[in-house]
Amino acid sequence: MRLIFLGPPGAGKGTQAARIAEKHGLAHLATGDMLRAATAGDSPLSEKARAIMASGGLLPDEMIIELISAPVSGAKTTGFILDGFPRTVPQAEALDKLLAALNAPLEAVIAFDLDEKAIRQRIIGRGSEAGQHAREDDRQEVITRRMAEYRRHTQPLRDYYQAKGLLRPVDAAGTVEQVSAEIEEILAEKVLTA
Ligand code: AMP
Repeated sequence: MRLIFLGPPGAGKGTQAARIAEKHGLAHLATGDMLRAATAGDSPLSEKARAIMASGGLLPDEMIIELISAPVSGAKTTGFILDGFPRTVPQAEALDKLLAALNAPLEAVIAFDLDEKAIRQRIIGRGSEAGQHAREDDRQEVITRRMAEYRRHTQPLRDYYQAKGLLRPVDAAGTVEQVSAEIEEILAEKVLTA
């Protein structure tokens, strides 16, 4: 299965992607995690990238596309869940091109629905649970920027994938188990109708 998990920050994409990937033997490709690993050093480029991430902004499309292309190609046969990518229409277009060249089309885009109040509560909760290991970009003022970036650049992807008949919304306000069950239902339907 080749899937995208699409949704605002704090909607539970990462948690669900890890669970579903493990259960179905899929690669979990999370660009945020890849970027945190790739920018851990102290080169000027890493520092610049970290500053953008810490402020809640998005990194340039070309950089992200380069980062994700090899892992996507590598997971062509096992299948994958893309978590945090694509986040812009140009990224989605580049992914389409890559997958067309690999002859490996997407099966579904799971869209996590959650209202803004719940998003803030989730992110704040994630920060306090993590204590001193909290992510720098989970701070209050940064959440506002991340939400704005989401609305401006990522939300339009819902229409993009809806037009392709791939969008499958889930209610992300439920418990981890409820949301997983809803996703499993969609995947079972996909397999049965494939
Ligand atoms: P995440 O862990 O998915 O919330 O990503 C953390 C940060 O990494 C984001 O706020 C962005 O700064 C950057 N990032 C992750 N994925 C992308 C992407 N697909 N496009 C641009 N920036 C990204």
